[in-house]
Amino acid sequence: MTEKFIPVTDLRTRATKPVIPVRPVAPSGLLADSLGRPLRDLRISVTDRCNFRCVYCMPKEVFDKDYRYLPHTDLLSFEEITRLASVFVAHGVDKVRLTGGEPLLRKNLEKLIAMLAELKTPDGRALDLTLTTNGSLLTKKAQALKDAGLTRVSVSLDSLDDATFRRMNDVDFPVTDVLAGIEAAERVGLGPVKVNMVVKKGMNDGEILPMARHFHGSGVILRFIEYMDVGASNGWKMDEVMPSADVVKRIDEAMPLEAIAPNYTGETAERWRYLDGGGEIGVISSVTQAFCQDCTRARLSTEGKLYTCLFASQGHDLRALLRGGHSDEEISGALAHLWQARSDRYSELRTSQTEATARRKIEMSYIGG
Ligand code: SAM
Ligand code: SF4
Ligand code: SF4
Repeated sequence: MTEKFIPVTDLRTRATKPVIPVRPVAPSGLLADSLGRPLRDLRISVTDRCNFRCVYCMPKEVFDKDYRYLPHTDLLSFEEITRLASVFVAHGVDKVRLTGGEPLLRKNLEKLIAMLAELKTPDGRALDLTLTTNGSLLTKKAQALKDAGLTRVSVSLDSLDDATFRRMNDVDFPVTDVLAGIEAAERVGLGPVKVNMVVKKGMNDGEILPMARHFHGSGVILRFIEYMDVGASNGWKMDEVMPSADVVKRIDEAMPLEAIAPNYTGETAERWRYLDGGGEIGVISSVTQAFCQDCTRARLSTEGKLYTCLFASQGHDLRALLRGGHSDEEISGALAHLWQARSDRYSELRTSQTEATARRKIEMSYIGG
């Protein structure tokens, strides 16, 4: 029998090489990569489009009217996404997060959520099914998302100050509408809502305390994310990164905090609790304190490429397998091969000299956070 291969696309040259063998493999739910890390989380990007132009993610100068987004025929259909997700789940994934671009721009997203909500882990558990959104359409969609079976949402919000927020989303979107979206999510039972704030030094670090005060005691879990050198278009510089340690110090001085244990191994956020009982915050220190050693995340792009790291420059074309008539067992074999070969640990290897242009990387809006 001739060996079959799965193609791999190099982002720099756009060349596609047939390098991954496809052999049928029965999933055991116990896949580990070359550093012993299991496959537990799957992030699925459902669109590469967005109605915001956040300065650290989709700067207007790059993502302008001439930018070429993926044509509709390149997108995985809901059936294709669900089929791939079921293979991931059979290999051990029990958390699925929908992202983008802005996932709520994908038409009928609640249909996909309902399809994914039907999947069960090999031991019969429902998935933890979440979504990250900029919140702009949440007021309108929260109830439908909940009804479809979504477990929780994370909402990105970088400032409470309207002028700063409008400057950061760069499409003049008002902060009040995102706050209304957060309230709607809580009202319909999509809580506890996590709010993600990317801190860019010199731009919104003055908003750390106002944000902490606003969400203190509210039940919302505010998480501060270090500005990362994802993609090749945001002009990232190390001196614009606000280290999480400084964020914690600033809040602790005003409202004392203590560290608390992670909810599970591999949790990206380090957790802190207010001593006065006002709830908790999280810090995600991808730059200053890499957490690659526990990274159990795989990412599936809108067009069906598998990325084993946020900073990968190569995706593996699973859509080619789907559309090439391969069986679930063959796709399962390709996934097992790819995950077992995984050795990514970009953040651990990153140095302060990292240049945004040093190597071709995928954009955050293409692969999701
Ligand atoms: N559009 C949705 C949103 O904004 O929530 C989902 C996709 S967005 C790419 C996912 C997350 O990545 C957001 O929380 C966003 O703030 C974060 N993000 C984007 N660019 C980033 C960067 N350069 N550094 C750190 N986080 C970033
Ligand atoms: Fe859009 Fe999210 Fe990127 Fe902002 S962070 S531009 S909302 S994809
Ligand atoms: Fe995981 Fe790659 Fe991020 Fe390290 S750099 S935590 S391997 S996604």
